[in-house]
Amino acid sequence: MRARPILREIEQGELWLGERRLVYTLKRSSARRTLMLKVSEGGEITVNAPLRMAWRHIEAFLNQHADWIKQRLERASRQTFCWRDGIELPYLGSLRRLSIEPAALPLVFPLADRILVGGDEGRAAVLVTDWYRSEAARFLRERLSAHVARVDYPMPRFRLTNATSRWGSLSPTGVLSLNWRLLKASEAEIDYVICHELAHMRVPNHSSRFWREVAALYPGFEAPKAKLRQNAALYFQF
Ligand SMILES: [Zn+2]
Repeated sequence: MRARPILREIEQGELWLGERRLVYTLKRSSARRTLMLKVSEGGEITVNAPLRMAWRHIEAFLNQHADWIKQRLERASRQTFCWRDGIELPYLGSLRRLSIEPAALPLVFPLADRILVGGDEGRAAVLVTDWYRSEAARFLRERLSAHVARVDYPMPRFRLTNATSRWGSLSPTGVLSLNWRLLKASEAEIDYVICHELAHMRVPNHSSRFWREVAALYPGFEAPKAKLRQNAALYFQF
């Protein structure tokens, strides 16, 4: 009996981890009987699957391993994000060049076109990240207060988070959390996240009533919502 030729197909799949859209390579082969998942050191996701396996099985398998994928991606981004002079950092919707000045005091100075950090390269990551967080605490609270006043909602308690895949949340006790990494996003993207969480004060789920509430708080929210998804990988780099 002659061996059957092995049939192969390569496709692209899409996976959502929270607000984060990930693209993966799906390699189908008639020689495979089981699913296999890999996340490379560079953060590329590959799934090996039997040739005719239904998408819903593949997607269920990925959802089951979502936490593991997240951990692997975090490790990959820590390894691939290299803090050195001249790299571009996203800041309020634009890119600013990082200037490292070894002879200057270890402080961060935001300039119109770049972000200047004193001290040696090895400390830049910590200094700049801390600076983003403190700027985010101030800026996000300001935006939140402005929206609350505008739509006549009560001001919720506010907390800054370091979540690795979520932009914001509203706890059952009414604490509104926003991710400090939002400081990398444009004001429109930030406003969308704030209005999304505010809408949860009235509607806890993601029903159509909820999205009507979001639209009432922030007409035209769809465009910044889509932008935030597109930019998620960039904003979650560090
Ligand atoms: Zn929500």
